[in-house]
Amino acid sequence: MFERFRLDGQVAVVTGAGRGIGRGIALALAEAGADVALAGRTVAQLEETAHTVEALGRRALVVPTDVTVSEQVERLADRAASELGHLDILVNNAGILVDQEAQAIRDDDWLRVIDTNLNSVMRCARAAARYMIPQQRGSIVNIASIFAYTPAPRFSSYVAAKGGMISFTRALALEWARYKVRVNAIAPGYVHTELNEWALSNPQIRDGLIRATPLRRLGTPEDIGLAVVYLASPAADYMTGEIVVLDGGYVIR
Ligand code: NAP
Repeated sequence: MFERFRLDGQVAVVTGAGRGIGRGIALALAEAGADVALAGRTVAQLEETAHTVEALGRRALVVPTDVTVSEQVERLADRAASELGHLDILVNNAGILVDQEAQAIRDDDWLRVIDTNLNSVMRCARAAARYMIPQQRGSIVNIASIFAYTPAPRFSSYVAAKGGMISFTRALALEWARYKVRVNAIAPGYVHTELNEWALSNPQIRDGLIRATPLRRLGTPEDIGLAVVYLASPAADYMTGEIVVLDGGYVIR
């Protein structure tokens, strides 16, 4: 039965795979047996993840990609499918955060956050569907955030994008179930990465968040990677349109 948690022979695309949570996801998928196409803008970081994927015995393909550019996203899916053989798993992980009070939001900042965190999910899913729908098989995992449930002040553009991502996950799941393409999301709690370094490197903020988390620790990229492996795997064959809140109990406190 536990063979169904394995991903041997599958090909995954992970956006934002060069560091932080995306790197943890790529390594977890590789450990579970998948070959991985690594997307992002910072090539040196993607190459570092690629070396680690290869050290785990899997193939890695570095595809420099800006997820806000449709042509680059189409090319990402094409290269993953042609150079790794097919495309079975897509993890939409790339994201940015802008710290701004709502009354001071500038159009370009708002649009950049929505484009990177939400429109990119549509672009990547649309590109992957060109392979997943004909083969009648695929699993898409979107990395949302608990901010969609418990917003923090000054991040309304990010909260709006992640909320939109959750609704879009459910809409796609419904639309693509007939093609056996499953679409789920994970809403992580606090994980110390470059995204929130400015806050979590402050011991007072960090300790406060740990105290507010019933399981009394921050999340790790490995925690998120393990959940992605489950959602991507045949073990989750009956799950679609689901949002897994993975936060040590933060939102239920
Ligand atoms: P991170 O370390 O800053 O990583 C963000 C990743 O996204 C980087 O690899 C970055 O690569 C990539 N990216 C950003 N803009 C991109 C673009 N236009 N095109 C392609 N790639 C792009 O942050 P993280 O914490 O690991 O975040 C990963 C995801 O988890 C995000 O969606 C975030 O919202 C979500 N999340 C994080 C937390 C947390 O506490 N850390 C909690 C909940 C959800 P390049 O800059 O090289 O392109």
